[in-house]
Amino acid sequence: MSSDTVLLVETVNFAAEKHRSQRRKDPEGTPYINHPIGVARILSHEGGVSDIEVLQAALLHDTVEDTDTSLEELEAKFGPVVARIVQEVTDDKSLNKQERKRQQVEHAPHCSRQAKLVKLADKLYNLRDLNRSTPAGWTAERVQEYFVWAREVVRGLKGTHSALEAKLEELFRQRGIQL
Ligand code: NDP
Ligand code: ZN
Repeated sequence: MSSDTVLLVETVNFAAEKHRSQRRKDPEGTPYINHPIGVARILSHEGGVSDIEVLQAALLHDTVEDTDTSLEELEAKFGPVVARIVQEVTDDKSLNKQERKRQQVEHAPHCSRQAKLVKLADKLYNLRDLNRSTPAGWTAERVQEYFVWAREVVRGLKGTHSALEAKLEELFRQRGIQL
């Protein structure tokens, strides 16, 4: 077995343990781990991305934001590159939600290409999730607002991966939102 294969199994297992008690916001309460695995798969299967550090960062991208995981822990276990990519895609929890959303728009163009790839796949996954089913308590207006905000983030990621960007553009177009 190649060492990359072993590393990916280590990474997906780490993410699964960290997210073990969490559920997504969809009405079915899908296990949270489906999301980071799906984000990594968008990159590998749809995006043709084989950079192991990007795929690992995709699997780990919500561990620092949403679990007790620290960046130091990620660095010790997976190295500085993976930890840095996760850091780049992690919101500052000391800020309120509105400010965090604004910062994502502002920071997107300044991220590394590796972090931009994870961001593109994360947005693509979440927008498809919203099209599949509406989270409990969300109005149609709130869903539309999320698409409009995601479009602003994605605008700052332009020029990173044409095929993934085209898929996002199609989702925005379907909602009458221009990139
Ligand atoms: P968010 O709008 O941030 O929720 C979306 C996030 O939840 C996604 O980015 C995703 O993050 C995660 N998520 C989990 N399950 C799903 C799913 N099934 N589909 C899509 N995304 C999912 O919710 P917040 O509660 O954090 O609210 C943030 C903003 O929404 C605030 O600015 C607030 O003002 C606004 N708001 C608007 C309302 C309205 O009616 N218009 C009402 C209330 C709040 P990840 O990739 O990390 O999993
Ligand atoms: Zn995510």
